Amino acid sequence: MHEHLSHSPDTSGHFGDYGGRFVAETLISALNQLEHTYQKVRNDAHWNDALSRNLQQYVGRPSPLYHAAAWSRQLGGAQIYFKREDLNHTGSHKINNALAQVHLAHYMGKKRIIAETGAGQHGVATATAAARLGLECVVYMGAEDITRQASNVYKMKLLGAQVVAVHDGSCTLKDALNEALRDWVTNVENTFYVIGSVAGPHPYPMMVRDFQKIIGEETYHQCLECLGKQPNVLVACVGGGSNAIGLFYRFIEEKSVRLIGVEAGGVGNALGEHAAALTYGRRGVLHGMRSYLLSHASGQVAPTTSIAAGLDYPGVGPEHAWLKDCGRAEYVTVTDEQAIHAFHEISTHEGILPALESCHALAYTRIIATKMSSQDNIVVNLSGRGDKDLEQIAAREEQAN
Ligand SMILES: *Cc1c(COP(=O)(O)O)cnc(C)c1O
Repeated sequence: MHEHLSHSPDTSGHFGDYGGRFVAETLISALNQLEHTYQKVRNDAHWNDALSRNLQQYVGRPSPLYHAAAWSRQLGGAQIYFKREDLNHTGSHKINNALAQVHLAHYMGKKRIIAETGAGQHGVATATAAARLGLECVVYMGAEDITRQASNVYKMKLLGAQVVAVHDGSCTLKDALNEALRDWVTNVENTFYVIGSVAGPHPYPMMVRDFQKIIGEETYHQCLECLGKQPNVLVACVGGGSNAIGLFYRFIEEKSVRLIGVEAGGVGNALGEHAAALTYGRRGVLHGMRSYLLSHASGQVAPTTSIAAGLDYPGVGPEHAWLKDCGRAEYVTVTDEQAIHAFHEISTHEGILPALESCHALAYTRIIATKMSSQDNIVVNLSGRGDKDLEQIAAREEQAN
């Protein structure tokens, strides 16, 4: 039935029923221009060579595939491998996409970069790429997030970006995204909008996936090299869905490989207590795309809760909605509590402090690994490092004591 799942989206940007373009009329020509330019450069050897040189020399690619032997032994089941996106420059997978989009902006002659950010990771990655290419950079961030993520705000300022506080709604990521879209409508002539995940109107979900699919392509070759075969299971956390689709994409047609996306289960399964759009959401339109969405019956977007700021988003990329409906990928949740437990286990057993987002993938890996044999292999995407989360973890410990 699903012969060519990896050939999505169609020319109008639809992944099955999902995706598309639900934006103000004034943005249609900008999106067309972006799509046209992207289609041109994606097959341009010169552009691709320049990008891959940058990914090697500036980001540090390829990221290693690391055998977490001690943790695997402790769990007594499958062999677990970490895809080390945490070792990238700026500490997560976000730079793969931010760098590529800022290069595209440069190529298009745009002088001004805008971005939205929640935890600040995408803002830092975008400010980094903009600094390197000498472009003006404005980052929209919810006022609430600005106080929660002070060190990333400071980093963006040091990198020369202007951080604009958004005081609408819940003063978080979804409000920052709305504000960035408004800026783009007004300044579309000279401005390039760098979206941080596989979300937003077409062509963003496709383009961001293409910029992240290097994660899975490297993994594919690294598995052949060190296992002599493909892994049984891939696991990644899902906020907007970019690190997960980045890992999964190369494997979509490799039907023997299970693909598991892990959403933020937060503190409970009632609306408002989690950020699991695929698990508990309904279809709707948000930020220019149709997808699964956490909303009230009235259609109003619901608040979300997660210990991981990068997963705290009420929507999800349309390609995941499509993969879920087709049954090609599975989506599950783990709670804040389980993620914290995984954080401590990986810290003490592997000497790696993982990002709280990645801890969701690790927590689920832990559950399935124990039910598998030592001949089986799991690759989990270590999407980022935990340095940004240490204050939050310390505060939580203090509260518990
Ligand atoms: C932003 C972020 C995520 C979530 O974003 P996706 O688009 O779902 O990948 C996950 N992990 C880390 C470390 C992040 O910074």
